[in-house]
Amino acid sequence: MRKIICILNLTFIINLHGRNNIDLNRRIDFPNVKGFITMVCDFHTHSVFSDGSVWPDIRIQEAQKDGLDAIAITEHLEYQPYKDDIPHPDRNRSYDLAKKYSGDSDLLVINGAEITKSMPPGHSNAIFINDANPIFNEDYIKSFAEAKKQDAFIFWNHPFWIGQSKDGLINLSKMNQDLIDKEMLHGIEVTNDLTYSDEAIQIAIDNNLTFIGTSDVHGLVDWQYKIPEGGHRPVTLVLSKNRTAKELKKALFAGRTIVWYNNLLIGLEKWVKPLIESSMFVESSGYYRKTHVAVVNIRNNSDARFILKNTSSLTFYTNSDLIEVQPHSIKQIGVKTGEKLSKFELTFEVLNSVIGLKKHPEIKFIIKGANNNTIQDVIF
Ligand SMILES: [Zn+2]
Ligand SMILES: [Zn+2]
Repeated sequence: MRKIICILNLTFIINLHGRNNIDLNRRIDFPNVKGFITMVCDFHTHSVFSDGSVWPDIRIQEAQKDGLDAIAITEHLEYQPYKDDIPHPDRNRSYDLAKKYSGDSDLLVINGAEITKSMPPGHSNAIFINDANPIFNEDYIKSFAEAKKQDAFIFWNHPFWIGQSKDGLINLSKMNQDLIDKEMLHGIEVTNDLTYSDEAIQIAIDNNLTFIGTSDVHGLVDWQYKIPEGGHRPVTLVLSKNRTAKELKKALFAGRTIVWYNNLLIGLEKWVKPLIESSMFVESSGYYRKTHVAVVNIRNNSDARFILKNTSSLTFYTNSDLIEVQPHSIKQIGVKTGEKLSKFELTFEVLNSVIGLKKHPEIKFIIKGANNNTIQDVIF
Protein backbone atom coordinates (compact mmCIF):
# COMPACT_ATOMS: atom_id res chain seq x y z
CA MET A 1 0.00 0.00 0.00
CA ARG A 2 2.76 2.35 1.00
CA LYS A 3 4.47 1.61 -2.28
CA ILE A 4 1.35 2.55 -4.26
CA ILE A 5 1.11 5.91 -2.51
CA CYS A 6 4.72 6.64 -3.39
CA ILE A 7 4.13 5.84 -7.06
CA LEU A 8 1.06 8.08 -7.15
CA ASN A 9 3.02 10.91 -5.56
CA LEU A 10 5.82 10.51 -8.05
CA THR A 11 3.39 10.63 -10.96
CA PHE A 12 1.91 13.79 -9.53
CA ILE A 13 5.31 15.44 -9.21
CA ILE A 14 6.22 14.50 -12.76
CA ASN A 15 2.96 15.96 -14.06
CA LEU A 16 3.43 19.10 -12.04
CA HIS A 17 6.90 19.61 -13.43
CA GLY A 18 5.71 18.80 -16.90
CA ARG A 19 3.09 21.52 -16.76
CA ASN A 20 5.15 24.22 -15.15
CA ASN A 21 8.67 23.75 -16.24
CA ILE A 22 10.46 21.11 -18.26
CA ASP A 23 8.32 18.36 -19.73
CA LEU A 24 9.85 15.21 -18.30
CA ASN A 25 7.79 13.11 -20.65
CA ARG A 26 10.07 13.09 -23.68
CA ARG A 27 7.49 11.80 -26.15
CA ILE A 28 7.01 14.41 -28.87
CA ASP A 29 3.37 15.37 -28.62
CA PHE A 30 1.28 17.44 -31.03
CA PRO A 31 -2.47 17.12 -31.53
CA ASN A 32 -4.06 15.91 -34.73
CA VAL A 33 -5.37 18.44 -37.23
CA LYS A 34 -8.90 18.30 -38.65
CA GLY A 35 -8.94 15.55 -41.28
CA PHE A 36 -5.37 14.40 -40.57
CA ILE A 37 -3.26 12.52 -38.07
CA THR A 38 -0.12 14.36 -37.00
CA MET A 39 2.69 11.85 -37.45
CA VAL A 40 6.06 12.48 -35.82
CA CYS A 41 8.86 11.39 -38.18
CA ASP A 42 12.63 11.43 -38.41
CA PHE A 43 13.67 10.59 -41.98
CA HIS A 44 17.43 11.03 -41.61
CA THR A 45 19.54 9.07 -39.11
CA HIS A 46 22.71 6.95 -39.19
CA SER A 47 24.06 3.82 -37.55
CA VAL A 48 27.41 1.97 -37.60
CA PHE A 49 26.44 0.68 -41.05
CA SER A 50 27.71 4.03 -42.33
CA ASP A 51 29.30 6.68 -40.06
CA GLY A 52 26.95 6.58 -37.06
CA SER A 53 28.15 5.38 -33.66
CA VAL A 54 25.30 3.08 -32.63
CA TRP A 55 23.84 -0.24 -33.69
CA PRO A 56 20.34 0.06 -35.27
CA ASP A 57 18.59 -1.29 -32.15
CA ILE A 58 19.54 1.91 -30.30
CA ARG A 59 18.02 4.05 -33.12
CA ILE A 60 14.77 2.09 -32.70
CA GLN A 61 14.73 2.37 -28.90
CA GLU A 62 15.40 6.12 -29.07
CA ALA A 63 12.61 6.52 -31.61
CA GLN A 64 10.22 4.65 -29.33
CA LYS A 65 11.22 6.78 -26.33
CA ASP A 66 10.66 9.95 -28.40
CA GLY A 67 7.22 8.73 -29.47
CA LEU A 68 8.09 8.75 -33.17
CA ASP A 69 5.55 7.31 -35.60
CA ALA A 70 8.14 6.70 -38.33
CA ILE A 71 11.91 6.54 -38.68
CA ALA A 72 14.34 5.96 -41.53
CA ILE A 73 17.95 4.92 -40.98
CA THR A 74 19.57 6.43 -44.03
CA GLU A 75 23.12 5.19 -44.38
CA HIS A 76 25.59 6.86 -46.73
CA LEU A 77 25.75 4.62 -49.79
CA GLU A 78 29.23 5.87 -50.67
CA TYR A 79 30.79 6.17 -47.22
CA GLN A 80 31.32 3.17 -44.93
CA PRO A 81 34.17 4.00 -42.53
CA TYR A 82 33.63 0.85 -40.41
CA LYS A 83 33.43 -1.63 -43.27
CA ASP A 84 36.67 -3.39 -42.26
CA ASP A 85 35.15 -4.21 -38.87
CA ILE A 86 31.58 -4.65 -40.07
CA PRO A 87 31.60 -5.90 -43.66
CA HIS A 88 28.16 -5.33 -45.16
CA PRO A 89 27.88 -5.51 -48.92
CA ASP A 90 24.08 -5.42 -48.61
CA ARG A 91 23.13 -1.79 -48.12
CA ASN A 92 19.69 -2.70 -46.83
CA ARG A 93 21.26 -4.35 -43.78
CA SER A 94 20.57 -1.60 -41.21
CA TYR A 95 16.97 -1.30 -42.43
CA ASP A 96 16.47 -5.07 -42.13
CA LEU A 97 17.85 -5.07 -38.58
CA ALA A 98 15.87 -1.96 -37.57
CA LYS A 99 12.70 -3.52 -38.91
CA LYS A 100 13.39 -6.65 -36.89
CA TYR A 101 14.06 -4.66 -33.71
CA SER A 102 10.86 -2.64 -34.12
CA GLY A 103 8.96 -5.95 -33.88
CA ASP A 104 5.21 -5.52 -33.81
CA SER A 105 5.36 -2.03 -32.30
CA ASP A 106 3.50 0.88 -33.94
CA LEU A 107 6.76 2.44 -35.16
CA LEU A 108 6.96 2.49 -38.96
CA VAL A 109 10.47 1.72 -40.18
CA ILE A 110 11.01 3.19 -43.63
CA ASN A 111 13.78 1.96 -45.90
CA GLY A 112 16.02 4.81 -46.99
CA ALA A 113 19.55 5.69 -48.08
CA GLU A 114 21.70 8.80 -48.32
CA ILE A 115 23.03 9.42 -51.83
CA THR A 116 26.28 11.08 -50.83
CA LYS A 117 27.87 13.23 -53.55
CA SER A 118 30.09 16.31 -53.47
CA MET A 119 28.32 19.59 -54.21
CA PRO A 120 26.62 19.81 -56.65
CA PRO A 121 24.30 17.96 -56.23
CA GLY A 122 25.39 17.32 -52.60
CA HIS A 123 23.70 14.82 -50.30
CA SER A 124 20.13 13.59 -50.78
CA ASN A 125 17.97 11.04 -49.00
CA ALA A 126 15.83 8.59 -50.92
CA ILE A 127 13.16 7.11 -48.63
CA PHE A 128 10.41 4.55 -49.21
CA ILE A 129 12.85 2.62 -51.40
CA ASN A 130 12.59 -1.12 -52.05
CA ASP A 131 16.27 -1.88 -52.41
CA ALA A 132 19.21 0.40 -51.59
CA ASN A 133 21.79 -1.66 -53.53
CA PRO A 134 20.99 -0.59 -57.12
CA ILE A 135 20.74 3.06 -56.01
CA PHE A 136 24.46 2.98 -55.15
CA ASN A 137 26.16 4.28 -58.28
CA GLU A 138 29.18 6.47 -59.03
CA ASP A 139 27.05 8.47 -61.44
CA TYR A 140 24.68 10.64 -59.43
CA ILE A 141 22.03 10.79 -62.13
CA LYS A 142 21.85 6.99 -62.26
CA SER A 143 21.37 6.94 -58.48
CA PHE A 144 18.53 9.43 -58.67
CA ALA A 145 16.97 7.69 -61.67
CA GLU A 146 16.97 4.35 -59.83
CA ALA A 147 15.48 5.93 -56.70
CA LYS A 148 12.78 7.53 -58.82
CA LYS A 149 12.16 4.18 -60.53
CA GLN A 150 11.52 2.73 -57.07
CA ASP A 151 9.02 5.56 -56.54
CA ALA A 152 11.09 6.97 -53.68
CA PHE A 153 10.46 10.29 -52.00
CA ILE A 154 13.76 12.15 -52.43
CA PHE A 155 14.89 15.23 -50.54
CA TRP A 156 17.95 17.46 -50.61
CA ASN A 157 19.91 17.14 -47.36
CA HIS A 158 21.50 20.11 -45.60
CA PRO A 159 22.11 22.18 -48.79
CA PHE A 160 23.49 24.92 -46.51
CA TRP A 161 25.99 22.69 -44.69
CA ILE A 162 29.27 24.58 -44.18
CA GLY A 163 31.15 21.37 -45.02
CA GLN A 164 29.99 21.91 -48.62
CA SER A 165 29.08 25.61 -48.61
CA LYS A 166 31.57 27.84 -46.82
CA ASP A 167 29.16 30.75 -46.33
CA GLY A 168 26.26 28.59 -45.14
CA LEU A 169 24.18 29.92 -48.06
CA ILE A 170 22.71 27.73 -50.80
CA ASN A 171 23.90 27.57 -54.36
CA LEU A 172 20.92 26.26 -56.28
CA SER A 173 23.04 24.91 -59.15
CA LYS A 174 21.73 23.93 -62.57
CA MET A 175 22.29 20.32 -61.54
CA ASN A 176 19.99 20.71 -58.52
CA GLN A 177 17.44 22.70 -60.51
CA ASP A 178 17.40 19.95 -63.17
CA LEU A 179 16.73 17.33 -60.48
CA ILE A 180 13.82 19.42 -59.23
CA ASP A 181 12.49 19.94 -62.77
CA LYS A 182 12.75 16.20 -63.53
CA GLU A 183 10.85 15.46 -60.31
CA MET A 184 13.83 13.68 -58.82
CA LEU A 185 13.90 16.00 -55.80
CA HIS A 186 10.64 16.35 -53.92
CA GLY A 187 11.69 17.91 -50.64
CA ILE A 188 14.42 19.94 -48.96
CA GLU A 189 15.80 20.03 -45.44
CA VAL A 190 15.12 23.49 -44.02
CA THR A 191 16.70 22.33 -40.78
CA ASN A 192 19.25 19.58 -40.21
CA ASP A 193 20.52 18.54 -36.80
CA LEU A 194 21.36 21.83 -35.01
CA THR A 195 21.26 24.00 -38.15
CA TYR A 196 18.53 26.13 -39.78
CA SER A 197 18.25 27.88 -43.16
CA ASP A 198 15.99 30.79 -44.18
CA GLU A 199 17.31 30.32 -47.73
CA ALA A 200 16.16 26.69 -47.79
CA ILE A 201 12.70 27.83 -46.71
CA GLN A 202 12.62 30.27 -49.64
CA ILE A 203 13.79 27.54 -52.07
CA ALA A 204 11.09 25.20 -50.73
CA ILE A 205 8.43 27.85 -51.36
CA ASP A 206 9.75 28.88 -54.79
CA ASN A 207 10.07 25.29 -56.06
CA ASN A 208 7.11 23.68 -54.35
CA LEU A 209 9.36 21.34 -52.35
CA THR A 210 8.20 19.63 -49.17
CA PHE A 211 9.59 21.12 -45.94
CA ILE A 212 11.74 18.54 -44.12
CA GLY A 213 13.53 18.75 -40.78
CA THR A 214 15.64 15.87 -39.51
CA SER A 215 18.07 14.95 -36.76
CA ASP A 216 20.74 13.39 -39.02
CA VAL A 217 21.85 11.93 -35.71
CA HIS A 218 25.11 9.99 -35.66
CA GLY A 219 25.68 9.70 -31.89
CA LEU A 220 23.05 9.56 -29.16
CA VAL A 221 19.82 11.58 -29.39
CA ASP A 222 19.92 12.23 -25.62
CA TRP A 223 23.32 13.90 -25.76
CA GLN A 224 22.89 15.74 -29.05
CA TYR A 225 19.52 17.33 -28.17
CA LYS A 226 19.94 17.55 -24.39
CA ILE A 227 16.81 15.49 -23.75
CA PRO A 228 17.33 15.35 -19.94
CA GLU A 229 17.31 19.16 -19.90
CA GLY A 230 14.00 19.28 -21.80
CA GLY A 231 15.32 19.40 -25.38
CA HIS A 232 13.78 17.56 -28.31
CA ARG A 233 15.12 16.02 -31.50
CA PRO A 234 14.23 17.88 -34.71
CA VAL A 235 11.48 16.06 -36.59
CA THR A 236 9.07 16.43 -39.47
CA LEU A 237 5.42 16.45 -38.44
CA VAL A 238 3.48 14.91 -41.31
CA LEU A 239 -0.28 15.40 -41.71
CA SER A 240 -1.36 11.98 -42.90
CA LYS A 241 -4.81 10.52 -43.58
CA ASN A 242 -3.93 7.45 -41.53
CA ARG A 243 -0.96 5.73 -39.91
CA THR A 244 0.08 3.59 -42.88
CA ALA A 245 3.35 3.98 -44.76
CA LYS A 246 1.32 4.42 -47.95
CA GLU A 247 -0.57 7.47 -46.68
CA LEU A 248 2.53 8.86 -44.99
CA LYS A 249 4.34 8.80 -48.33
CA LYS A 250 1.37 10.38 -50.09
CA ALA A 251 1.34 13.18 -47.51
CA LEU A 252 5.03 13.84 -48.14
CA PHE A 253 4.47 14.10 -51.90
CA ALA A 254 1.52 16.43 -51.15
CA GLY A 255 3.80 18.63 -49.02
CA ARG A 256 1.70 18.31 -45.85
CA THR A 257 4.52 18.80 -43.34
CA ILE A 258 5.58 21.07 -40.50
CA VAL A 259 9.14 21.01 -39.20
CA TRP A 260 9.53 20.94 -35.39
CA TYR A 261 12.99 22.29 -34.66
CA ASN A 262 14.30 23.86 -31.44
CA ASN A 263 10.83 25.05 -30.37
CA LEU A 264 10.10 26.41 -33.87
CA LEU A 265 7.21 25.25 -36.09
CA ILE A 266 8.24 25.80 -39.71
CA GLY A 267 6.18 25.25 -42.84
CA LEU A 268 3.62 26.64 -45.22
CA GLU A 269 0.97 28.76 -43.54
CA LYS A 270 -1.79 26.43 -44.77
CA TRP A 271 -0.36 23.55 -42.66
CA VAL A 272 1.25 25.46 -39.79
CA LYS A 273 -1.85 27.44 -38.89
CA PRO A 274 -4.22 24.48 -38.43
CA LEU A 275 -1.60 22.78 -36.26
CA ILE A 276 -1.25 25.89 -34.07
CA GLU A 277 -5.02 26.28 -33.89
CA SER A 278 -5.53 22.71 -32.74
CA SER A 279 -2.65 23.07 -30.27
CA MET A 280 -3.78 26.30 -28.63
CA PHE A 281 -7.27 27.67 -28.01
CA VAL A 282 -9.34 29.68 -25.52
CA GLU A 283 -10.67 27.23 -22.98
CA SER A 284 -12.73 29.63 -20.87
CA SER A 285 -13.20 33.31 -20.12
CA GLY A 286 -15.03 35.66 -17.77
CA TYR A 287 -14.73 38.98 -15.99
CA TYR A 288 -12.82 39.33 -12.73
CA ARG A 289 -15.28 40.13 -9.93
CA LYS A 290 -16.95 43.49 -10.58
CA THR A 291 -14.18 44.81 -12.81
CA HIS A 292 -13.95 45.35 -16.55
CA VAL A 293 -10.86 43.17 -16.78
CA ALA A 294 -11.54 40.02 -18.76
CA VAL A 295 -9.80 36.82 -17.72
CA VAL A 296 -8.89 34.61 -20.67
CA ASN A 297 -7.60 31.07 -20.20
CA ILE A 298 -5.58 29.85 -23.16
CA ARG A 299 -4.89 26.12 -23.28
CA ASN A 300 -1.84 24.67 -25.02
CA ASN A 301 -2.10 20.96 -25.82
CA SER A 302 1.26 20.66 -27.53
CA ASP A 303 4.99 20.47 -26.84
CA ALA A 304 5.57 23.96 -28.26
CA ARG A 305 6.41 26.84 -25.94
CA PHE A 306 4.42 29.44 -27.80
CA ILE A 307 5.79 32.98 -27.91
CA LEU A 308 2.99 35.36 -28.88
CA LYS A 309 3.14 39.04 -29.78
CA ASN A 310 -0.09 40.94 -29.27
CA THR A 311 -1.17 42.63 -32.52
CA SER A 312 -4.68 43.64 -31.39
CA SER A 313 -5.53 47.11 -30.08
CA LEU A 314 -6.41 45.79 -26.61
CA THR A 315 -3.77 45.83 -23.88
CA PHE A 316 -3.27 43.44 -20.99
CA TYR A 317 -3.58 43.76 -17.23
CA THR A 318 -0.97 41.03 -16.72
CA ASN A 319 1.48 41.14 -19.59
CA SER A 320 3.28 43.33 -22.06
CA ASP A 321 2.61 42.62 -25.70
CA LEU A 322 4.68 39.43 -25.35
CA ILE A 323 3.15 36.27 -23.91
CA GLU A 324 4.62 32.82 -23.43
CA VAL A 325 2.34 29.83 -23.29
CA GLN A 326 4.19 26.86 -21.80
CA PRO A 327 3.76 23.32 -23.23
CA HIS A 328 0.76 21.35 -21.98
CA SER A 329 -0.46 24.14 -19.73
CA ILE A 330 -3.04 26.89 -19.35
CA LYS A 331 -1.98 30.52 -19.63
CA GLN A 332 -4.25 33.02 -17.93
CA ILE A 333 -4.18 36.63 -19.09
CA GLY A 334 -6.10 39.70 -18.01
CA VAL A 335 -7.44 41.84 -20.84
CA LYS A 336 -8.56 45.46 -20.42
CA THR A 337 -11.66 45.69 -22.57
CA GLY A 338 -12.90 49.03 -21.16
CA GLU A 339 -16.37 47.64 -20.45
CA LYS A 340 -17.90 44.16 -20.16
CA LEU A 341 -18.13 42.87 -23.72
CA SER A 342 -20.12 39.91 -25.04
CA LYS A 343 -17.51 39.42 -27.74
CA PHE A 344 -13.98 40.59 -28.47
CA GLU A 345 -10.97 39.40 -30.45
CA LEU A 346 -7.33 38.94 -29.66
CA THR A 347 -4.77 38.59 -32.44
CA PHE A 348 -1.20 37.45 -32.00
CA GLU A 349 1.84 36.97 -34.16
CA VAL A 350 3.30 33.53 -33.34
CA LEU A 351 7.00 34.33 -33.03
CA ASN A 352 8.14 30.72 -32.57
CA SER A 353 6.73 29.77 -35.95
CA VAL A 354 8.10 30.54 -39.42
CA ILE A 355 6.02 30.49 -42.63
CA GLY A 356 8.44 32.30 -44.94
CA LEU A 357 11.49 34.50 -44.93
CA LYS A 358 11.23 36.40 -41.60
CA LYS A 359 7.47 35.77 -41.65
CA HIS A 360 5.42 34.52 -38.71
CA PRO A 361 1.81 33.35 -38.80
CA GLU A 362 -0.94 35.35 -37.13
CA ILE A 363 -3.67 33.71 -35.06
CA LYS A 364 -6.96 35.05 -33.81
CA PHE A 365 -8.89 34.13 -30.67
CA ILE A 366 -12.57 35.12 -30.63
CA ILE A 367 -13.78 35.42 -27.03
CA LYS A 368 -17.53 35.13 -26.68
CA GLY A 369 -19.80 35.34 -23.63
CA ALA A 370 -17.16 36.47 -21.12
CA ASN A 371 -19.74 39.00 -19.83
CA ASN A 372 -21.90 36.09 -18.61
CA ASN A 373 -19.17 34.67 -16.35
CA THR A 374 -17.77 36.17 -13.19
CA ILE A 375 -14.41 34.89 -12.06
CA GLN A 376 -13.78 35.29 -8.32
CA ASP A 377 -10.19 34.07 -8.15
CA VAL A 378 -7.39 34.35 -10.63
CA ILE A 379 -4.00 32.70 -10.80
CA PHE A 380 -2.17 35.60 -12.43
ZN1 LIG B 1 24.69 14.24 -45.42
ZN1 LIG C 1 23.32 12.10 -43.05
